[in-house]
Amino acid sequence: MKRLENKVAFVTGGSRGIGAGIVKRLAAEGAAVAFTYAQSATAAAGIVAAIEAAGGKALAIQADNHAPEALPRAVEETVKTFGRIDILVNNAGLYVANTIEGYSLQDYDDTMNVNVRAVFQASQAAARHMQAGSRIITIGSNMADRVTDSHGALYAMSKSALIGLNKGMARDLGPKGITVNLVQPGPIDTDMNPATSAHAAAARSRMIIPQYGTPAQIAGLVAYLASEESAFMTGTAITMDGGYNV
Ligand code: NDP
Repeated sequence: MKRLENKVAFVTGGSRGIGAGIVKRLAAEGAAVAFTYAQSATAAAGIVAAIEAAGGKALAIQADNHAPEALPRAVEETVKTFGRIDILVNNAGLYVANTIEGYSLQDYDDTMNVNVRAVFQASQAAARHMQAGSRIITIGSNMADRVTDSHGALYAMSKSALIGLNKGMARDLGPKGITVNLVQPGPIDTDMNPATSAHAAAARSRMIIPQYGTPAQIAGLVAYLASEESAFMTGTAITMDGGYNV
């Protein structure tokens, strides 16, 4: 029997990058997987088709984290389609780079709405349906702990807010048998942070393992956290960054 058979997972931002890696891995482990996307309808449809062709179950839902009603609606659609929700992965995020003087109030609101408010809303909506043994896993960033570059203040603020939310939710949901954990990646080769970008060499020079990570590596950790094996782990943040923050 596969590790996540009979489980239902919901992943935000599953059409590209780390989220797409997580969707594919959870489906390969036997879960039925619903996931959201903002723009990439074609990529999302391709992921659903590939999972179904392999005998799995998947559902793509257009739901933009900017919209306050989007995540609660998407969680309800998941429960309506697959009957339950056992695993929530809060993955969708954005990075607005600027100087402190250059940021607009819109940049602040966008960053907090997509990276923090949507995590709270999806977690709240999912927790209302979750039974004992369920899992909430959020993708933060190693920048919550250490900011080595300029122009990342809003992003770092939003990702460090997730540390507090993660701990508080773990306390509140632990008595229901739900574990809550945070994964903090370092440089992962995606559209958000390509291994070929102008600052990639500088990033590699700070790492113990001087190469970008892959979505599949983060997905492997998420699959472990989603499984029964991680039952004794909650309220924690795990950094996977090739030693960047050491
Ligand atoms: P990408 O930009 O490559 O992919 C982002 C994914 O999230 C896409 O599926 C995108 O959907 C979706 N998304 C973006 N904005 C929204 C939104 N407003 N509403 C719904 N979905 C949205 O990002 P990564 O895969 O690199 O990042 C994933 C997570 O990992 C983020 O939280 C990021 O902060 C975090 N992270 C990434 C690191 C890296 O080096 N890559 C390092 C540390 C953390 P669509 O395709 O429709 O646009």
